[in-house]
Amino acid sequence: AEHNLRCSGCGIQVQTEKPEELGYAPEAALKRDPLLCQRCFRIKHYNEMSSVTPDQDEFLKILSGIGSTDALIVHIVDLFDFEGSLIGGLHRFVGSNPVVLVVNKIDLLPKAINTNRILNWVQRMAKENGLKTAEIVLCSAKKNIGFDRVVEAVARLRKDKDVYVVGATNVGKSTLINRLIRDYSDLESELTVSPYPGTTLDLVQIPLDDGRFIIDTPGIVYKHRLTELIDKKDMQTLLPDKPIKPAVYQLNEQQTLYFGALARFDFVQGARQSFTCYISNAVPIHRTKLERADELYATHKGEMLAPPHKDRLELLPPLVKHAFRIPKGSLSDILISGLGWIAINSDAGAQVVVHAPKGVKVAVRSSLI
Ligand code: GDP
Repeated sequence: AEHNLRCSGCGIQVQTEKPEELGYAPEAALKRDPLLCQRCFRIKHYNEMSSVTPDQDEFLKILSGIGSTDALIVHIVDLFDFEGSLIGGLHRFVGSNPVVLVVNKIDLLPKAINTNRILNWVQRMAKENGLKTAEIVLCSAKKNIGFDRVVEAVARLRKDKDVYVVGATNVGKSTLINRLIRDYSDLESELTVSPYPGTTLDLVQIPLDDGRFIIDTPGIVYKHRLTELIDKKDMQTLLPDKPIKPAVYQLNEQQTLYFGALARFDFVQGARQSFTCYISNAVPIHRTKLERADELYATHKGEMLAPPHKDRLELLPPLVKHAFRIPKGSLSDILISGLGWIAINSDAGAQVVVHAPKGVKVAVRSSLI
């Protein structure tokens, strides 16, 4: 039957005949207000269902439960906070199940970056962190880059198994799963939620065409990521939504950079050299002299040095120091988890100190870019 009805989500004309075609809604759904086609219904529903934040024990239960099932694991990480968003010891939990590592947010890198180089870097980092991967895929869920490769890798590697999607919070898991629902799951059945054995949690299940499911697990909250420590309002400032324009600073020794009031970088000793900051361009950077840095912070934090705004400053743990000696001739990044990184191409070597909120992961690695 022809219905001259339109989906209030996407505007398409609704039809009840062909589930595999656009605009399909089951007969019964026509009475719903607002009227949604099945695709929009799933997308809307998914967001409502996927908001549980369990504690660490619940995660471990879910993860170790996956180890005793035969499944494909899709681990989503955020390229902008690679080490911060990687699930440590994933293999201990998921057993011998194959892992597809989906590296999201590649749209944030400057345009001219060679993706093979990034892929090699990710391979090395995964290996260093003891993660064996069946495949690594770079993508941007938001800008729809590489999504076909994600779908292709999952289809090829899952055979006839279920797919578990795991990741830390804010890596773009929901964005990616929404795409999967939109572009991939073409079924008459709707999303279901079922309790995961042994936990108080419900997991969202997205039906696949062979009776199997994509199972979305809740995002893991890692307190070592700055994004998870601060107020939601400030978090939006930290999460870049455009390609990052690296900010290059030529510093003399005894100079300091402040990233809002969130972190500080001291160039303690070494020849004049440049430091390249890959940090959300919404976070203002202030340069000062090391000897004046403490006083500047004391008088201007929450105002000139922001975010966070002074009303929310109390939430921020106190800054603690991490000292690093960057060797001569090395290409290194100092990662401040959740904030970004500072690239150092040091001919002469450098002694630096990073001040970051207590608990935030700060680490040196070989350069991503
Ligand atoms: P989840 O907590 O892992 O489910 O993450 P969300 O899907 O809610 O995304 C967290 C934040 O990252 C949101 O602000 C998204 O807009 C953003 N985001 C997700 N995917 C991408 C991406 O590919 N690129 C960029 N730049 N941002 C993304």
